[in-house]
Amino acid sequence: MKAIILTCLILFTSLLISMNQKENTTRVIAHRGAWKNTGATENSIASLQYAISLGCYGSEFDVHLSADSVPFILHDSAIQGFSIEKTNAADLKKIKLANGESLPTLEEYLLAGKGQTKTRLILEIKTSSISKERSLALTKKCVELVTQTGVAAITDYIAFDFDVCLKAKALSPKATVQYLSGNKSPEELSLAGLDGFDYHFNVLKQNEGWLADAHKRNLSTNAWTVNDEATMRWLIDQKIDMITTNEPENLFKLVK
Ligand code: MG
Repeated sequence: MKAIILTCLILFTSLLISMNQKENTTRVIAHRGAWKNTGATENSIASLQYAISLGCYGSEFDVHLSADSVPFILHDSAIQGFSIEKTNAADLKKIKLANGESLPTLEEYLLAGKGQTKTRLILEIKTSSISKERSLALTKKCVELVTQTGVAAITDYIAFDFDVCLKAKALSPKATVQYLSGNKSPEELSLAGLDGFDYHFNVLKQNEGWLADAHKRNLSTNAWTVNDEATMRWLIDQKIDMITTNEPENLFKLVK
């Protein structure tokens, strides 16, 4: 009987320890995929696959809307002289990335991330340089494609445009939506019904109480784009939930 009680006690203690460790572990998000140390082009399907094989919690990527309303993956607003927003999909599909891949559509990207559950797809909805309507139209397209391709359970949304965040949350209430711009307090985000923030690390250095306040409000916390070890350590010490980095391999060394 004593042995059974002792075994139960040990199991219970180790469960508590593992729960605690899980709670305190900052998760790694590869910024534009894992490209810097892998040789893959940023925002390519290869960079997503590398992030998955590294075991990243998430792989971030950027989405713009073509002139004829097809979402494509790219950070900048233009590639090889072609503005995404002013070019039709048929012409954008002919463009090759530096690693030889075709410029990926959002649909292709989501399908490449499907079939696994370890690495979340962190979808950044870029702000249109043409109009608010196009930013909101892109938001709708993104949510539709995420649903149609069957990856809603592993997809989170981030955006600099607050209205885009609100729209993404309204269209996909179960999804996690984080705001990027850094000009809203945790209280404002909470009142707006958003799930948390993904702020530049300097915003968090300037507003030292925000991480603790966000945790109290049960908001998810993320910082971009943290590539140096000192800032990584500072954020980990403050128990930030996630760090978005170009150096996922280095961040893993600090959180494992
Ligand atoms: Mg981005």
